[in-house]
Amino acid sequence: MADRGELTSYAYRQLRARILAESDTCHWCGHREADAADHLIPVSKGGAKLDPDNLAPIHGVAGCPTCGRKCNNEKSDRIGGARLVTSVDWYAGP
Ligand SMILES: [Zn+2]
Ligand SMILES: [Zn+2]
Repeated sequence: MADRGELTSYAYRQLRARILAESDTCHWCGHREADAADHLIPVSKGGAKLDPDNLAPIHGVAGCPTCGRKCNNEKSDRIGGARLVTSVDWYAGP
């Protein structure tokens, strides 16, 4: 089976563009001009990679122009965010 990252990278970019078109308010610091989409539940922890409900705008490598935080770095692979509504049991593990 092909690597899932390769398989979905194009679809992910499309989805990210859609997320950012709807809103560019960073879910981590709350400021505008987010330029990346963050998985509320990291894919590595079982989050859905291509589910719009699991993606929210966040500031990427350039950081936030308002407060200067590197939001995506700060969040790292932590779970959660303002829009987290799932009840998935991610501690169940594989
Ligand atoms: Zn931010
Ligand atoms: Zn900010």
